[in-house]
Amino acid sequence: MRLLVLLVLLFTVETFSQEIPSRWDELTASDWPRALEKSNRTIILPIGILEKHGPHAPMGSDLIRIRNLAKMAAEKEYAVIFPDYFYGQVNEAKHIQGTFSLPVNLTLELLQATCDEIARNGFEKIFIINGHGGNPQLLRYFVQTQMEKKRDYAVFFHTPEHNEVAREKIAEMRKSDPANDQHGGEAETSVLLHMRPDLVQLERAKNESGKNLDRLGELPNVYTAIWWYGSYPLHYAGEGGVATKELGKVITDDNVRSIVEALRAVKADTTTLKLQNQYFEEVERVSN
Ligand SMILES: [Zn+2]
Repeated sequence: MRLLVLLVLLFTVETFSQEIPSRWDELTASDWPRALEKSNRTIILPIGILEKHGPHAPMGSDLIRIRNLAKMAAEKEYAVIFPDYFYGQVNEAKHIQGTFSLPVNLTLELLQATCDEIARNGFEKIFIINGHGGNPQLLRYFVQTQMEKKRDYAVFFHTPEHNEVAREKIAEMRKSDPANDQHGGEAETSVLLHMRPDLVQLERAKNESGKNLDRLGELPNVYTAIWWYGSYPLHYAGEGGVATKELGKVITDDNVRSIVEALRAVKADTTTLKLQNQYFEEVERVSN
Protein backbone atom coordinates (compact mmCIF):
# COMPACT_ATOMS: atom_id res chain seq x y z
CA MET A 1 0.00 0.00 0.00
CA ARG A 2 2.76 2.38 1.03
CA LEU A 3 4.55 1.59 -2.19
CA LEU A 4 1.39 2.34 -4.18
CA VAL A 5 1.00 5.73 -2.47
CA LEU A 6 4.63 6.47 -3.20
CA LEU A 7 4.22 5.47 -6.84
CA VAL A 8 1.09 7.63 -7.22
CA LEU A 9 2.93 10.53 -5.62
CA LEU A 10 5.94 10.08 -7.87
CA PHE A 11 3.70 9.89 -10.93
CA THR A 12 1.90 13.08 -9.90
CA VAL A 13 5.14 14.95 -9.31
CA GLU A 14 6.44 13.65 -12.62
CA THR A 15 3.30 14.77 -14.51
CA PHE A 16 3.30 18.24 -12.99
CA SER A 17 6.98 18.93 -13.32
CA GLN A 18 6.92 17.92 -16.97
CA GLU A 19 7.83 20.58 -19.47
CA ILE A 20 4.93 21.48 -21.70
CA PRO A 21 5.17 23.41 -24.97
CA SER A 22 4.33 27.10 -25.12
CA ARG A 23 2.88 27.13 -28.58
CA TRP A 24 -0.90 26.63 -28.72
CA ASP A 25 -0.49 24.46 -31.82
CA GLU A 26 2.01 22.18 -30.09
CA LEU A 27 -0.01 21.56 -26.93
CA THR A 28 -2.12 18.43 -26.58
CA ALA A 29 -5.67 18.52 -25.24
CA SER A 30 -4.47 16.70 -22.13
CA ASP A 31 -1.84 19.45 -21.58
CA TRP A 32 -4.42 22.24 -21.83
CA PRO A 33 -5.47 22.47 -18.14
CA ARG A 34 -1.80 22.44 -17.11
CA ALA A 35 -0.99 25.16 -19.66
CA LEU A 36 -3.82 27.34 -18.31
CA GLU A 37 -2.58 26.86 -14.77
CA LYS A 38 1.11 27.35 -15.53
CA SER A 39 0.43 30.47 -17.60
CA ASN A 40 -1.97 31.86 -15.02
CA ARG A 41 -4.47 31.95 -17.93
CA THR A 42 -2.14 34.26 -19.84
CA ILE A 43 -1.50 34.06 -23.57
CA ILE A 44 1.00 35.97 -25.68
CA LEU A 45 -0.39 37.18 -28.99
CA PRO A 46 2.62 38.21 -31.10
CA ILE A 47 1.46 40.32 -34.05
CA GLY A 48 3.53 40.75 -37.19
CA ILE A 49 2.90 41.64 -40.81
CA LEU A 50 3.85 40.53 -44.32
CA GLU A 51 5.54 43.29 -46.33
CA LYS A 52 8.76 44.16 -48.12
CA HIS A 53 11.74 44.77 -45.83
CA GLY A 54 14.23 46.48 -48.10
CA PRO A 55 15.72 44.40 -50.92
CA HIS A 56 17.44 42.06 -48.45
CA ALA A 57 15.23 40.92 -45.55
CA PRO A 58 12.23 38.54 -45.64
CA MET A 59 8.59 39.62 -46.06
CA GLY A 60 7.81 38.16 -42.67
CA SER A 61 10.63 40.01 -40.85
CA ASP A 62 8.27 41.51 -38.26
CA LEU A 63 6.45 38.24 -37.68
CA ILE A 64 9.70 36.28 -37.40
CA ARG A 65 11.22 38.79 -34.96
CA ILE A 66 8.19 39.06 -32.70
CA ARG A 67 7.54 35.31 -32.63
CA ASN A 68 11.14 34.63 -31.69
CA LEU A 69 10.95 37.21 -28.92
CA ALA A 70 7.73 35.59 -27.64
CA LYS A 71 9.40 32.18 -27.66
CA MET A 72 12.48 33.43 -25.79
CA ALA A 73 10.32 35.27 -23.24
CA ALA A 74 8.09 32.25 -22.64
CA GLU A 75 11.18 30.13 -21.96
CA LYS A 76 11.93 32.43 -19.02
CA GLU A 77 8.34 33.04 -17.91
CA TYR A 78 5.80 30.49 -19.08
CA ALA A 79 2.83 31.60 -21.16
CA VAL A 80 0.99 30.05 -24.06
CA ILE A 81 1.82 31.58 -27.46
CA PHE A 82 -0.84 32.07 -30.12
CA PRO A 83 0.05 30.79 -33.64
CA ASP A 84 1.21 33.04 -36.51
CA TYR A 85 -0.82 36.26 -36.66
CA PHE A 86 0.06 38.73 -39.41
CA TYR A 87 -3.19 40.67 -39.95
CA GLY A 88 -2.46 44.29 -39.17
CA GLN A 89 -2.34 47.80 -40.61
CA VAL A 90 -0.15 47.99 -43.69
CA ASN A 91 -2.09 50.14 -46.15
CA GLU A 92 1.05 52.15 -46.87
CA ALA A 93 2.82 49.26 -48.64
CA LYS A 94 0.20 48.03 -51.10
CA HIS A 95 2.21 49.39 -54.05
CA ILE A 96 4.78 46.62 -53.50
CA GLN A 97 4.16 42.91 -54.04
CA GLY A 98 4.32 40.63 -51.04
CA THR A 99 2.24 42.93 -48.85
CA PHE A 100 -0.78 41.27 -47.21
CA SER A 101 -3.27 43.97 -46.25
CA LEU A 102 -6.85 43.14 -45.25
CA PRO A 103 -9.73 45.67 -45.24
CA VAL A 104 -9.66 48.03 -42.25
CA ASN A 105 -12.87 46.90 -40.54
CA LEU A 106 -12.07 43.24 -41.05
CA THR A 107 -8.69 43.77 -39.38
CA LEU A 108 -10.38 45.07 -36.23
CA GLU A 109 -13.14 42.46 -36.30
CA LEU A 110 -10.67 39.64 -36.81
CA LEU A 111 -8.59 40.76 -33.86
CA GLN A 112 -11.67 41.01 -31.63
CA ALA A 113 -12.96 37.61 -32.74
CA THR A 114 -9.51 36.14 -32.14
CA CYS A 115 -9.42 37.53 -28.59
CA ASP A 116 -12.98 36.30 -27.91
CA GLU A 117 -12.08 32.84 -29.16
CA ILE A 118 -8.84 32.79 -27.14
CA ALA A 119 -10.86 33.67 -24.02
CA ARG A 120 -13.46 30.98 -24.79
CA ASN A 121 -10.60 28.51 -24.43
CA GLY A 122 -9.91 29.54 -20.86
CA PHE A 123 -7.56 32.56 -21.06
CA GLU A 124 -8.23 35.70 -19.05
CA LYS A 125 -5.18 37.78 -20.00
CA ILE A 126 -4.19 38.45 -23.58
CA PHE A 127 -0.70 39.92 -23.78
CA ILE A 128 -0.09 41.52 -27.17
CA ILE A 129 3.40 42.25 -28.44
CA ASN A 130 3.90 43.80 -31.84
CA GLY A 131 6.64 43.62 -34.45
CA HIS A 132 5.36 46.03 -37.10
CA GLY A 133 5.80 49.82 -37.15
CA GLY A 134 2.39 50.41 -38.79
CA ASN A 135 0.46 48.63 -36.03
CA PRO A 136 0.76 50.54 -32.72
CA GLN A 137 -1.97 53.09 -33.47
CA LEU A 138 -4.34 50.30 -34.50
CA LEU A 139 -3.47 48.22 -31.44
CA ARG A 140 -3.87 51.08 -28.97
CA TYR A 141 -7.26 51.89 -30.49
CA PHE A 142 -8.21 48.20 -30.35
CA VAL A 143 -7.22 47.94 -26.70
CA GLN A 144 -9.22 51.07 -25.90
CA THR A 145 -12.32 49.63 -27.63
CA GLN A 146 -12.30 46.80 -25.09
CA MET A 147 -14.18 49.29 -22.91
CA GLU A 148 -17.12 49.07 -25.33
CA LYS A 149 -18.71 46.23 -23.38
CA LYS A 150 -18.09 43.85 -20.51
CA ARG A 151 -15.74 41.00 -21.30
CA ASP A 152 -14.42 38.22 -19.10
CA TYR A 153 -10.85 38.87 -20.15
CA ALA A 154 -8.43 41.77 -20.35
CA VAL A 155 -6.13 42.78 -23.21
CA PHE A 156 -2.66 44.15 -22.48
CA PHE A 157 -0.32 45.71 -25.03
CA HIS A 158 3.39 45.77 -24.22
CA THR A 159 5.93 47.83 -26.14
CA PRO A 160 9.48 46.77 -25.17
CA GLU A 161 11.73 49.60 -24.05
CA HIS A 162 15.51 49.50 -23.79
CA ASN A 163 17.09 50.17 -20.42
CA GLU A 164 19.97 52.59 -19.98
CA VAL A 165 22.70 49.94 -20.30
CA ALA A 166 21.29 48.57 -23.56
CA ARG A 167 20.70 52.05 -24.96
CA GLU A 168 24.36 52.96 -24.42
CA LYS A 169 25.60 49.69 -25.86
CA ILE A 170 23.40 50.06 -28.94
CA ALA A 171 24.51 53.67 -29.47
CA GLU A 172 28.15 52.53 -29.31
CA MET A 173 27.67 49.70 -31.80
CA ARG A 174 25.36 51.38 -34.30
CA LYS A 175 27.05 52.60 -37.48
CA SER A 176 24.16 54.36 -39.25
CA ASP A 177 22.15 57.47 -38.33
CA PRO A 178 19.73 56.39 -35.56
CA ALA A 179 17.12 58.94 -36.71
CA ASN A 180 16.74 57.15 -40.02
CA ASP A 181 17.35 53.59 -38.80
CA GLN A 182 13.87 52.15 -39.21
CA HIS A 183 12.25 49.80 -41.66
CA GLY A 184 14.73 47.17 -42.89
CA GLY A 185 17.52 49.35 -41.48
CA GLU A 186 20.58 48.49 -39.42
CA ALA A 187 18.83 47.60 -36.15
CA GLU A 188 16.07 45.48 -37.65
CA THR A 189 18.41 43.69 -40.06
CA SER A 190 20.85 43.04 -37.19
CA VAL A 191 18.11 41.32 -35.19
CA LEU A 192 17.24 39.15 -38.19
CA LEU A 193 20.92 38.31 -38.69
CA HIS A 194 20.99 37.19 -35.06
CA MET A 195 17.75 35.17 -35.25
CA ARG A 196 17.57 33.90 -38.84
CA PRO A 197 20.80 34.61 -40.76
CA ASP A 198 19.67 32.10 -43.39
CA LEU A 199 16.89 34.47 -44.50
CA VAL A 200 18.92 37.68 -44.91
CA GLN A 201 20.55 38.53 -48.27
CA LEU A 202 22.87 41.16 -46.80
CA GLU A 203 24.77 41.79 -50.04
CA ARG A 204 21.53 43.06 -51.63
CA ALA A 205 20.92 45.70 -48.93
CA LYS A 206 22.85 48.36 -50.84
CA ASN A 207 21.00 47.74 -54.12
CA GLU A 208 18.39 50.28 -53.06
CA SER A 209 18.48 53.48 -51.04
CA GLY A 210 16.74 53.70 -47.69
CA LYS A 211 17.23 57.46 -47.50
CA ASN A 212 14.48 59.79 -46.29
CA LEU A 213 13.34 61.60 -49.46
CA ASP A 214 11.06 63.93 -47.46
CA ARG A 215 8.90 64.69 -50.52
CA LEU A 216 5.88 65.86 -48.56
CA GLY A 217 7.58 68.95 -47.18
CA GLU A 218 6.76 70.74 -43.97
CA LEU A 219 3.15 70.71 -42.71
CA PRO A 220 3.54 72.05 -39.15
CA ASN A 221 1.92 69.80 -36.51
CA VAL A 222 -0.17 68.03 -39.12
CA TYR A 223 -0.52 64.29 -39.56
CA THR A 224 -1.43 62.88 -42.97
CA ALA A 225 -1.24 59.30 -44.16
CA ILE A 226 0.91 59.67 -47.26
CA TRP A 227 3.89 60.87 -45.17
CA TRP A 228 5.55 57.46 -45.21
CA TYR A 229 5.32 57.08 -48.99
CA GLY A 230 6.52 60.67 -49.25
CA SER A 231 9.64 59.77 -47.30
CA TYR A 232 10.28 56.13 -48.21
CA PRO A 233 8.64 55.18 -51.54
CA LEU A 234 10.76 52.01 -51.73
CA HIS A 235 9.49 50.89 -48.32
CA TYR A 236 13.00 50.85 -46.94
CA ALA A 237 14.28 53.21 -44.25
CA GLY A 238 17.90 53.10 -43.15
CA GLU A 239 21.01 51.12 -44.05
CA GLY A 240 20.52 47.38 -43.72
CA GLY A 241 23.95 46.71 -45.22
CA VAL A 242 25.87 47.74 -42.08
CA ALA A 243 23.94 45.34 -39.82
CA THR A 244 25.76 42.88 -37.55
CA LYS A 245 24.53 39.86 -35.61
CA GLU A 246 26.33 41.23 -32.53
CA LEU A 247 24.11 44.34 -32.48
CA GLY A 248 21.14 42.07 -33.10
CA LYS A 249 21.93 40.04 -30.00
CA VAL A 250 22.15 43.12 -27.77
CA ILE A 251 18.78 44.42 -29.03
CA THR A 252 17.15 40.98 -28.78
CA ASP A 253 18.39 40.19 -25.27
CA ASP A 254 17.17 43.52 -23.95
CA ASN A 255 13.81 43.18 -25.71
CA VAL A 256 13.36 39.77 -24.06
CA ARG A 257 14.22 41.30 -20.68
CA SER A 258 11.57 43.97 -21.19
CA ILE A 259 8.92 41.48 -22.33
CA VAL A 260 9.60 39.07 -19.45
CA GLU A 261 9.32 41.91 -16.94
CA ALA A 262 5.95 42.99 -18.32
CA LEU A 263 4.70 39.42 -18.74
CA ARG A 264 5.52 38.59 -15.11
CA ALA A 265 3.61 41.65 -13.94
CA VAL A 266 0.60 40.80 -16.12
CA LYS A 267 0.58 37.18 -14.95
CA ALA A 268 0.58 38.31 -11.32
CA ASP A 269 -1.97 41.09 -11.86
CA THR A 270 -5.41 40.68 -10.29
CA THR A 271 -6.48 44.32 -10.36
CA THR A 272 -7.17 44.92 -14.05
CA LEU A 273 -10.06 42.48 -14.43
CA LYS A 274 -11.47 43.46 -11.04
CA LEU A 275 -11.54 47.14 -12.03
CA GLN A 276 -12.90 46.27 -15.45
CA ASN A 277 -15.81 44.38 -13.85
CA GLN A 278 -16.41 47.17 -11.36
CA TYR A 279 -16.51 49.71 -14.18
CA PHE A 280 -19.15 47.76 -16.08
CA GLU A 281 -21.29 47.33 -12.96
CA GLU A 282 -21.37 51.11 -12.79
CA VAL A 283 -22.12 51.42 -16.49
CA GLU A 284 -25.02 48.99 -16.04
CA ARG A 285 -26.33 50.91 -13.05
CA VAL A 286 -26.61 54.18 -14.95
CA SER A 287 -27.82 52.52 -18.15
CA ASN A 288 -30.99 50.98 -16.69
ZN1 LIG B 1 9.83 45.52 -39.85
